[in-house]
Amino acid sequence: MAYDDNNVFAKILRGEIPSKKVLEDAHALAFHDIHPARPVHILVIPKGKYTDFTEFATRATPAEQTGFWSAVAEAAKKAGVVETGYRLVANTGANGGQEVPHFHVHILGGGRVGPMVARD
Ligand code: 5GP
Repeated sequence: MAYDDNNVFAKILRGEIPSKKVLEDAHALAFHDIHPARPVHILVIPKGKYTDFTEFATRATPAEQTGFWSAVAEAAKKAGVVETGYRLVANTGANGGQEVPHFHVHILGGGRVGPMVARD
């Protein structure tokens, strides 16, 4: 899938839409989800143009990948959920329920997160 430069996270990266930043470095930006599903709900995105996890895992450089996952760990630490536990979620594609076509990982915590997936 071609990358859409007008997706909402691209706009956040360009500073066109404000976000409540948790951290930012050369490879990644972490910010609070606008509609938190749990007391802690942070989104971590790479700075590169990757539509989803598959794109990121296959096309991002080793430095981008290491930088991204380090930022996820650092954001969890900053949010204070490392001791109590948390869940990482990467919705991917239509069946995965991905709404924003820029790869992102959700960090969910601050209380029990609940069943891993809804059972139909
Ligand atoms: P997805 O369903 O793609 O995995 O998750 C997209 C997430 O982005 C949703 O949890 C949604 O609340 C969040 N989101 C959508 N638009 C914005 C926004 O403008 N700012 C922030 N901070 N989060 C957003």
